[in-house]
Amino acid sequence: MYAIVAQIGTDIVQAKQFLEAGELVAIPTETVYGLAANALNEEAVAKIFKAKNRPSFDPLIVHVNSLERVSQFVEEIPEQAKKLVSNYWPGPVTILLRKKAIVPDLVTSGLDSVAVRVPSHPLTLDLLASLEFPLAAPSANPFGYVSPTEAAHVEAQLGNQVSYILDGGTCRVGVESTIVSFLHEKPRVLRLGGLAVEDIEALIGEVEVNEHSSSTPAAPGMLKSHYSPGKSIELINGFDFTRVSDFSELGTIVFDTMLKDIPAENQVVLSKSANLDEAARNLFSALRLLDQKPNIKTILTEYVPNHGLGRAINDRIKRATANKD
Ligand code: AMP
Ligand code: MG
Repeated sequence: MYAIVAQIGTDIVQAKQFLEAGELVAIPTETVYGLAANALNEEAVAKIFKAKNRPSFDPLIVHVNSLERVSQFVEEIPEQAKKLVSNYWPGPVTILLRKKAIVPDLVTSGLDSVAVRVPSHPLTLDLLASLEFPLAAPSANPFGYVSPTEAAHVEAQLGNQVSYILDGGTCRVGVESTIVSFLHEKPRVLRLGGLAVEDIEALIGEVEVNEHSSSTPAAPGMLKSHYSPGKSIELINGFDFTRVSDFSELGTIVFDTMLKDIPAENQVVLSKSANLDEAARNLFSALRLLDQKPNIKTILTEYVPNHGLGRAINDRIKRATANKD
């Protein structure tokens, strides 16, 4: 028996054909790679949940290529939401609005709201423009694992589950989109992500932020240990180094400076120049890299300055290091 292995390429016509046939295609975005299907085809959407082993209570983001298209799927777009996306779409911000009946329940996990975004990637924007339907797409990783930021990451984990991987290179932002809910009077950030809260507030005024959105059933994507890679990952601050006899079993993901005593090849510096955008871009591939090094038993990491994209990085670090008991 041979596993069916996805084709990888830059052919949007081929990607379009698979999607029209109700198949899964991995798509590049500026945040992370998505696992896409026709959002209006419930059977196709069901394949996403199956491929990812994602629980059906975790809703998907609907991707379109323009703000104009959003009104087909949502009841009303409040002025603040319009202002936000007029400025930042295509870009790493997702808005949550009341849905129209055309959006299948499976996409929204039965909620009466839908999350929508226009991603910023030339290949995916061309693909979306060529399609007559929107794409439902969560991150293209098995449920609970780190999101992919390169086509090769998708191939390694879901290569035999998708028909085609559209290769758009390395993701420019590297963390998932910021999700902003406009369901209530005051906008609320449900997930910190690729658009900084400061940028949002500068444009539309103060927003509420769900800092610890973990494990509340209302926000199912934010389970506490959602981002944990396979091996133990702990904060440097508070780690008991006296219990380690062999320092080559330690790996680190540090912001701008390596730790002494641990081999350099076991350490990833997120940004030598202490740039938070660069750090965000490198975070998930660092987790993957160290997770795959067989000699490393424990990954140590640290928080970065808590502003700009640092808040999204810290949120992912917090979840990755969360106690899974
Ligand atoms: P992913 O694309 O894998 O990053 O996951 C999408 C995330 O968006 C989900 O895990 C939810 O947290 C969030 N989301 C999508 N739709 C909704 C919705 N209707 N209500 C609340 N959160 C949503
Ligand atoms: Mg995800």
